[in-house]
This record gives sequence, C-alpha cells and structure tokens, in this order.
Amino acid sequence: MKTRRPMVAGNWKMNKTIEEAAELIDALIPRLQEYNNIDLVVCTPYIDLPVAKEKLEGTNIKVGAQNLHWETSGAYTGEISAPMLKDLCDYVIIGHSERRAMFGENDETVNKKVAAALAVGLQPIVCVGETLEENEAGQTDEVVGRMVREGLKGLSSEEASRIVVAYEPVWAIGTGRTATPDQANDIHKNVVRPILREMFGAEVGDGMRILYGGSVKPSNAAELFGQSDIDGGLIGGASLKADDFVGITQGV
Ligand code: PEP
Repeated sequence: MKTRRPMVAGNWKMNKTIEEAAELIDALIPRLQEYNNIDLVVCTPYIDLPVAKEKLEGTNIKVGAQNLHWETSGAYTGEISAPMLKDLCDYVIIGHSERRAMFGENDETVNKKVAAALAVGLQPIVCVGETLEENEAGQTDEVVGRMVREGLKGLSSEEASRIVVAYEPVWAIGTGRTATPDQANDIHKNVVRPILREMFGAEVGDGMRILYGGSVKPSNAAELFGQSDIDGGLIGGASLKADDFVGITQGV
C-alpha cells in the first residue's frame, strides 16, 4: 500500500482570463469536495491567482503558480518573486519543460528558484524530463538524474521533504503520447527515487511525491496512478476542462 499522499495538480499554462478562471473554479469546487485524501492543486497564471485564492479559501483545493524569479525584488521587468507570491498560493511549478525550452531555464536557475520558493514557505513542484532525442539516444536516466541532482542541490532533508518532483517526458507533453505506466514507474522507482534517497536519506526520499505528467487523461489516469511509485499527476491540457480534471482525480 502506498503511504505517500497522492496529488493531482493542474497546470493551466497561459490559459484562462480572470472570468474564465472563476468559471472553471466554480465548476470544480462542488465536484472535487469529496476527495479529501488527495492534495488537489490548480496552478494558474499569475493574474488568476487572486480570484483562485478567494474562491478556493476553505476548500480542499489549493492554489499554485507556474513560475517565479529567484531574487526577492528589484529591476527585473515582468518578473514575480517568491515573497510576492507567498500570500496568494501554496505551490509553485519550477523548471517546466516549456520554460526550459523557450525561456532559457536550466538546472542552475531551477536550483535558485527552488531555494527562493522554499525560503518563503512555498512548496515547489519541480519538473524534470528528457526530450525525444535524449530518449531515443538512451540518455533518459542520465538526463533525468542530472536534473534531479542539480535542481535539488544543496537542500537540507527538511527542505527536500517539502518538494514534489514531477517526471514529465518532454515527448509526452501536449502530444497525446503518454509514457506507458511501466515506463513511467520505472523512471520514478529506479532513477528518481534512488537519487532522492541518496541525497536526502531513505526516510525523506521515500516520503517525497513523484508525479507523472504528459498527456494524462481520464482514460489513462487510473492505470498510471496505480503504479507503485507514481504518486499522482501534473496535468496540462486536461486540467482546463472540469470534466477531465474531475475524471483524472477519480483515477487516483
Ligand atoms: C504539463 O504541461 O505539465 C503537461 C503534462 O501537459 P499535458 O498534460 O497537456 O501533456
């Protein structure tokens, strides 16, 4: 039996105006209220955080952001810092593959962002995952392993215990191609988990959640979440529709 508390987190990406966000949240609240054994999170665009916070206060759904800057304040036009976020949300996605591919993020910036989030009490959801080319070249273990080690470098075990890792093979994000449950579990169990145990000790390493992300939908969620080391999912496209997000949550 799994002892880690499952998590289903939605990554809305650059979608939903404030009005649309309010509508989706209103649809989710009554349909998710019975799922008290799961950590449910919606990671919204910055501008939707206030409405999400207001509507979700006192419910079983938590709010997350999708990025932050590692500095606390200053001349960083267009950026948002951890202290600015901390009163609006509980979680923050860090190092999503879209940010790595399109906005110059790398293991070093991920590591700085993780530290900045932890310093104000935000829980980081740290994304790792190999590209199609890396996968086909047999480099998956090496790439994912490096991202975990470098991204979480220098953290204490106590800090690590507040982190959620999301394994998201880049070739499965938004493509409709999902890693098979066995493939994903193999990476969680035999690549990510041993590194977490080695870095932070067996107890903390075993307690940290490892989510799977990449074209999760209601039809494949149960089989993925049923694996020994898949502790839930980070959901992109399917988190934008209440029916799909609820259907995926039912798969836990
Ligand atoms: C994501 O963006 O984190 C993701 C997993 O996207 P999708 O579910 O759309 O593949």
